[in-house]
Amino acid sequence: MTKVLQRVPGQCPPEVKSAHGVWLEDTDGNVYLDAVSGGAAVSAIGHGDSRVNDAIAAQLDQVAYAHNSFFTNRPAEELAELLLSEAPEGLSQVLYCSGGSEAIESALKLARQYWVEKGRPQKSRIISRRQSYHGATLGTLSVGGNMPRRDYYAPMLFDAQLIEPCYAYRLAHPDESEEAYGKRAAQHLEAAILEAGAENVAAFVAEPVVGATLGCAPAVKGYFKEIRAICDRHDVLLILDEVMCGTGRTGYMYACLEDEVTPDLLAVAKGMGGGFVPIGAVLVHERLAEAIRSGSGALRHGFTYMAHPLSCAAALAVQKVIKDDGLVKAAQQKGELLRQVLDERFGQHPNVGDIRGRGLFLGLELVRERNSKQPFDPSFAFHSRVKAAALEAGLMIYPSGGTIDGKQGDHILLAPAYVVSETEIEEIAERLSQALDATLVEAQ
Ligand code: PLP
Repeated sequence: MTKVLQRVPGQCPPEVKSAHGVWLEDTDGNVYLDAVSGGAAVSAIGHGDSRVNDAIAAQLDQVAYAHNSFFTNRPAEELAELLLSEAPEGLSQVLYCSGGSEAIESALKLARQYWVEKGRPQKSRIISRRQSYHGATLGTLSVGGNMPRRDYYAPMLFDAQLIEPCYAYRLAHPDESEEAYGKRAAQHLEAAILEAGAENVAAFVAEPVVGATLGCAPAVKGYFKEIRAICDRHDVLLILDEVMCGTGRTGYMYACLEDEVTPDLLAVAKGMGGGFVPIGAVLVHERLAEAIRSGSGALRHGFTYMAHPLSCAAALAVQKVIKDDGLVKAAQQKGELLRQVLDERFGQHPNVGDIRGRGLFLGLELVRERNSKQPFDPSFAFHSRVKAAALEAGLMIYPSGGTIDGKQGDHILLAPAYVVSETEIEEIAERLSQALDATLVEAQ
């Protein structure tokens, strides 16, 4: 029995022994093809890179830790410069933390502090979207729309207003253009702001490409421009959660670059450290940084491991690998290839309703019946069974089941490392096909 409290206590998953590129091996000698970057879209540059290992060792020889209220440090400064150099104009400073939940929690608190600094303390409400995931802390769960993760804690959460996501496959009208749907979907935000009273609303938070809860659902073109305009109209800050889809995953350094939108706060985490170390960050708009500088003069927020020198050195090395090896472009090109391979294999599959995503961040929505889009019976937990069948076939994928108008939907997400090869892409599709077939036999 494992002494590590697992997600399913009592169950003991295999023990991972080693990993290279997009392959992991367990202590029983089983080998897994990693189509989801370590399991959660983290290992963006693949497993193992001596350049990152060397940077970690070199930093250990200098200084592993010093609290950020005493010192800044070289890797933190260089990493901030690198992250900001490719970010939308106006984002001017970086607040570090240890992961995605902390990044979103920090962004929510910064948004709140901004309005207090501006002399508008009434602005405290947050609007977010259903079928979203922003983290596991009480604050981030409060703004999240992943109901199975929220329900036990509901009495402890603050009251956020959850609007409809931009989810074209289920929510666009059959004869509606993408542009018209984007506008209509964004209107839910304006309605929610008006209902709450703009004077009470601090920020809107959303993932540009929804990951964990919708198996990868990108906003349609124009949606976020409309959202930005609505936020501006009502003095509401825009927080974009790129914890999963940022730092190159979508074929752009930040997903919002493709949407041509500048957020006030931009959260990144997973691919930022590539899994070598736990790290996250919020890129902060100069407007907010300046309000704090010229206002109270101090952040009312902080963590012990902010700007941790060792974490920053590792993440800096990861980001240099992404830059030096042209991996953002690679994510775009490999993404196109993976998309093409998936379209060929599953484009007409009777149980694959939708294939969607951007770059190397792709999702499949699995349905009982393609034409009617009827989902599988939720009690069957199709998504979890495909994951298990995929593992049997030596393939790691990310399953999700979200509630769609009270019904369960099943999706799987694919997010391999940006270094995945053409042969490995073919192999992912082959093993996925085997897993799907095996699950469909069970579902009969
Ligand atoms: N935001 C998004 C979009 C995520 O996908 C996740 C994790 O899956 C988080 C926030 C929370 O990140 P973490 O698990 O690193 O705290």
